Amino acid sequence: MRAIRRFTVRPVLPDALAALGTLANNLRWSWHPPTQDVFAAVDAELWESCAYDPVRLLGAVPKTRFAELAEDGAFLERLGAAEADLTAYLSEDRWYQKKVADGPRAIGYFSPEFGITEVLPQYSGGLGILAGDHLKAASDLGVPIVGVGLLYRHGYFKQSLSREGWQQETYPVLDPDGLPISLLRGPDGERATISIDLPDGPPLIARIWVASVGRVPLLMLDTDVEGNPEHYVDVTDRLYGGNSEHRLRQELLLGVGGVRALRVFSELTGHPAPEVFHTNEGHAGFLGLERIRELTVAEDGPQVDFDTALEMGRASTVFTTHTPVPAGIDRFPRTLVEQYFGTGGATPGVPLDRILALGSEDYTGGDPSVFNMAVMGFRLAQRANGVSQLHGEVSRGMFNGLWPAFDEAEVPIGSITNGVHAPTWVAREMFDLAVGQGADTRSDEADAFWDAVDKVPGGEVWAVKRRLRERLVLDARKRLRKSWQDRGAATAELKWIDSALSPDVLTIGFARRAASYKRLTLMMRDPERLKSLLLHPERPVQLVIAGKAHPADDGGKKLIQDIVRLSDDPEVRHRIVFLPNYDIAMAKPLYPGTDVWLNNPLRPYEACGTSGMKAALNGGLNLSVLDGWWDEWYDGDNGWAIPTADGVDDIDKRDDLEAAALYDLIENDVAPRFYDHDHEGVPTRWLEMVRHTLKSLGPKVLATRMVRDYVRALYAPAAGNARLLNSDYTGAAELAAWKKRVRAAWGSVRVEHVESSGVGDAAEVGAVLSVRAFVCLGDLAPDDVHVQVLYGRIDGNDELAEPSISDLGLTESYDGGRHRFDGDVTLDTSGPFGYTVRVIPRNDLLTSTAELGVVALAPA
Ligand SMILES: *Cc1c(COP(=O)(O)O)cnc(C)c1O
Repeated sequence: MRAIRRFTVRPVLPDALAALGTLANNLRWSWHPPTQDVFAAVDAELWESCAYDPVRLLGAVPKTRFAELAEDGAFLERLGAAEADLTAYLSEDRWYQKKVADGPRAIGYFSPEFGITEVLPQYSGGLGILAGDHLKAASDLGVPIVGVGLLYRHGYFKQSLSREGWQQETYPVLDPDGLPISLLRGPDGERATISIDLPDGPPLIARIWVASVGRVPLLMLDTDVEGNPEHYVDVTDRLYGGNSEHRLRQELLLGVGGVRALRVFSELTGHPAPEVFHTNEGHAGFLGLERIRELTVAEDGPQVDFDTALEMGRASTVFTTHTPVPAGIDRFPRTLVEQYFGTGGATPGVPLDRILALGSEDYTGGDPSVFNMAVMGFRLAQRANGVSQLHGEVSRGMFNGLWPAFDEAEVPIGSITNGVHAPTWVAREMFDLAVGQGADTRSDEADAFWDAVDKVPGGEVWAVKRRLRERLVLDARKRLRKSWQDRGAATAELKWIDSALSPDVLTIGFARRAASYKRLTLMMRDPERLKSLLLHPERPVQLVIAGKAHPADDGGKKLIQDIVRLSDDPEVRHRIVFLPNYDIAMAKPLYPGTDVWLNNPLRPYEACGTSGMKAALNGGLNLSVLDGWWDEWYDGDNGWAIPTADGVDDIDKRDDLEAAALYDLIENDVAPRFYDHDHEGVPTRWLEMVRHTLKSLGPKVLATRMVRDYVRALYAPAAGNARLLNSDYTGAAELAAWKKRVRAAWGSVRVEHVESSGVGDAAEVGAVLSVRAFVCLGDLAPDDVHVQVLYGRIDGNDELAEPSISDLGLTESYDGGRHRFDGDVTLDTSGPFGYTVRVIPRNDLLTSTAELGVVALAPA
């Protein structure tokens, strides 16, 4: 008999064991092994059979066992210590309290997905895992972030395979009562809600769940509430499912609803209101419109005008773009946005034409019929970044159209390279190696950890790596058996799985979404060559592969099927396996168990990539195309760079060339080094690279480094600007008025005439060039502008490739808005040299030269 409704009854713990509930309901347990040990001590078998889920465990433990534990002095002592440790972790001063003066009191971090632990499956891949790591690192550092996301009833899909190797999707229902989250409630115990007006229907209502990620609260909105019609309940049904309208509703809820949820949260808990809002990818961008509504029309707001509110919002908003793949940019039909933000829409009182203008692709090559969330993201945030240096550069090129008067280098998009949360991703055994050498893993500063790397004897490192490889092999066999059973195989057919993969063979891992640019199947470009590597008599290689294709992406599913078919071949199936359902639970033993992490995207489409960082922290070596983070931190000795055929337009040809280079590297460099053992069976040369990887990459790839960078480069300066504008909004009103005045007057700004002296025909290095620029500023004052000389080496077309820039000073003013600006330039390099002069707007509250998009250049 099948139940028609299910819910989870939470256990009532004896008073003596109340701390177990406290530990289970703060997700810090997920990156804190000593807390996990406490759960294991409750009942080791149940802990395993409940898939290491504390809430499930506590629901499954029999009352008699609780009674026993309540009398068990040793257990109670341990439990008390774990609780005390958590209390200290939640309350003590950490990096942010000690090192950051005048940082924002709170930061709202908005993301459509959060990958924190396998027991809260609210992520699909890299973006979500990154958001999870961001929150955890913020918690460790004491950075006062509040996360804002959605709670999806099905999360993302679970992947399995058909007999033919075709991806199958299932969407198990998650019961919120069985998740480590709790409802936000008012003082009367009533659940707190927010609502959003939708066209053609009643308002959309959502309740607010709170997950505790260490010190960081994560608010998750959920429309599965009584009072919502069925099609509203489905707004939070699943991650990245449905059509544009469904996605728009989700993003409306995340952005507009998210800001409202933050307000309710502050009201009910006294938590400080965010001074900075971080939009993690375009999907959350509507938050900026709700903030404009709060400032312009809300009854309890200051009721400033739109442009003033825009300046307020921009100063306090950070936008991070995450993809250089044009198809990955979030765009809606403009008509849909008209419908949802027009009369009766989500942000009443905010003019629709201004909203449409924010997302409009009104630049060369843009499509007038779409509303572009990334474009709106840039316009609503004064600070924007990509997620690796290379991605920053690619983004500046990609979005140059928004600042057409400026060269790519001055497009105001910076970069902060992603990082990963070590306590989540580093195998405990690896941590213990360092702890054995006296490293303090509790410290905010991880340096001691990396100093320990050289002290651990090679034999010990190697023994640990073998153990981790073996753990992966055992986990992979279990998954393989389950997968074959799902595919309809009989147990008798599966004997071979007992010896699939080996704990002593060079193990290459490859797991990522099956998006086409990631080239899941590049390694099988030449199947015979691949086979010879797998089956090499002395230096075999084994491959562990995983990845999900988007449910609507048949191309991706075909790639998976190709891999699965190859791995079904009895000749090689013990050396190449595809494991269905790549998720955090699979990833945790996967990264530490691999010797080499393979990544072969089509450069430069991998914005950053983080899986290779997780492998590196576990002593894995990267074998990767120079894309994303690897382009930045590969140093020649910490792994291998797969050469790319960047200029080759013929994709087939390019794949052939890059696959051949990959095979060569494995055959000639990777495998020989791995199997080159000394008389004690230790691959000394391999371990040299492992140590170098840990020391060179370890400190850089950490999420704590990333979050510190965000605080210093973006959050704190944004809060500073916002405070300057915010005291009584006059700063913002002045800035808005100034921008309006500058834009209106810009038409008459020109460089009329430039003179120089001091350098004759035979200029030498060290000579000083004096520049005099005569400019017309029309109605603008000299203080409103910078007059700059740009100078340096020029190319064959007289283009200044990377000019130096220096400001000229006002020396004289004449009638009719005319002025003279002077300055000197020292010629410090030999070769072809050139210079030019330009005028740009000047205001201390601007963060980049290109912010207004206007410039006046000296005539050629
Ligand atoms: C780290 C991780 C990702 C993202 O890896 P990329 O290298 O950025 O593709 C995706 N899924 C899981 C489960 C992960 O742990």
